Amino acid sequence: MKKLIIISLILCIVILSITLFFVTQTKDVPIIPINPKKPKIEKYGLLVDNYKIITDTVKTGELLGSILNKFGINATQIDKISKQSSDTFRTTFINVGQAYSIFYDTLIDNVPQTKYFVYENSRTKYTKYNFTNKDTIIIERFTKKIDTIENIASGKIESSLWNALVNNGYSWNIAIALSQTFAWTVDFYALQKDDWFKVVYDDLVVDGQTIDSPIIRAGVFYHGGRELWSVPFQQNDSSGISFYDTLGNSMRKTFLKAPLQYTRVSSRYSTARMHPIFNRPSEHRAVDFAAPCGTPIYAASDGTITRRGWDTGGGNFVSIRHNSVYSTVYMHMSSFGNFNIGQYVLQGEIIGYVGSTGWSTGCHLHYEVHENGQKIDPLSFDPPPAEPIDSVNMPRFNVEKQVWIKKIKKIKIPRQKKQIMVQNNEN
Ligand SMILES: [Zn+2]
Repeated sequence: MKKLIIISLILCIVILSITLFFVTQTKDVPIIPINPKKPKIEKYGLLVDNYKIITDTVKTGELLGSILNKFGINATQIDKISKQSSDTFRTTFINVGQAYSIFYDTLIDNVPQTKYFVYENSRTKYTKYNFTNKDTIIIERFTKKIDTIENIASGKIESSLWNALVNNGYSWNIAIALSQTFAWTVDFYALQKDDWFKVVYDDLVVDGQTIDSPIIRAGVFYHGGRELWSVPFQQNDSSGISFYDTLGNSMRKTFLKAPLQYTRVSSRYSTARMHPIFNRPSEHRAVDFAAPCGTPIYAASDGTITRRGWDTGGGNFVSIRHNSVYSTVYMHMSSFGNFNIGQYVLQGEIIGYVGSTGWSTGCHLHYEVHENGQKIDPLSFDPPPAEPIDSVNMPRFNVEKQVWIKKIKKIKIPRQKKQIMVQNNEN
C-alpha cells in the first residue's frame, strides 16, 4: 500500500513537472497572430492600437504647459521640458492653430495620463514628447515621409483654362504650375478656344494630403497653331533641371513676354493713333498694359539700370540696358523698386510699381523695347532663347526626350462635361 502511495506521488510529481514544463514553455512560443495580414497602424511611429488618442489644435492663450497639465503632466515635468530648451530647439514653443495629439492608456480620476504628446510644427515636421519614463522626458523632432505621386492632367480650352481644369476635376493649382512652366512660350492672356495641353506632374503628399503646388515634369501645350513642348533635362551635375523644346532649345527666353501681371493690353504699338489727352494723332511705339496701380513691374531681362527719374510725359520711369542690342523703358510708375542707376538687375526683379504719373489717364505701364536704338513692337518681338542643349549632351537628350514624348502622347484629352444650361423663363 505504502509502495502504491509512493508510486502515485512520484507519478503526480512527474505529471506536474511535465505540465509545468509545457506551461512555462508556451511563454516562449511565438504568438501567431490570428489574422497575420492585418496591418499595424502607426501614427508618429506609435502603434495606434496600444493607445487612446485625443487630437486637437492649440487655442489662443494656450501654452504647452497648460495643455499638458490637463492631461496628467505635472509642473515638475513641465519644468523639465523647459530645461531641455535651447536656441536651436525651443521645446516649449507652440503656435496657435497647430495640431497636437495626446496618446494615453490610463485614466486617473477621469484624467487621461499622457504617455506621448505629439506637436505638429508644420505639415511635414513634428515633435514627440515621450513621458513613458518617469525620470527622463525624451523630446525628439521628426520629419514626415514626403511621397511623390506622379499624375497626369490634360484639357481642351473651351472658354478658359480655369474651366478646362476645374470641369475635369483638377486642382486650380495646376494652372499656376502650367503658367510657370510655359511662361516663355505660351501667352496665357491670349489662349484660344481649342488650344489644349497634356502634362505629367508630381504631387507631394504627406499623410495622404497634397502639400504645395504640383510640379510639372514635362508636357505639351497646343497654342497658336503649334505644339509647344516642355522636356526636362539636366545638362551636367552642377546644373539644375531646365526645360527645353524638342529641338533642345531652352524654354527660357532672354526676355519676359510681359514685364508684369496685367489685365489687358490697353494700347498697342502703332505709328499713328489718337493721343488720349491731346486728342490729336500721335505715334505710340510701345505697348500699354492696364493693371491696378501698385502692381509690381519686373525687369524684362537681366541688365543695368541706365536711367531712373522723372519725365514730363513719362512720369516716373526706368530704363534698362540688357546688352549691346536691347534696352527697355518702363513709364508712369507710382514708385520705384530698390534698384538705382548703375545697378545690375536680374530678370523678374521688381524695378517699380504701376502708377499713373506723367501724361497718363489711368493706372497702366507704358513699355518700350529698343533694338539697336529703334523702338520695336514689344508684342511681336521674339527674343532669342537662353542656352540650348550642348551638342555633347544631344544624344542623351534625344533618348530622354523620346521617353517623355511617348508618355505624354498617350495622355487622352477628356471630353468637356456638358454645361448645364439654366433656362430663364422670365422675359
Ligand atoms: Zn504708352
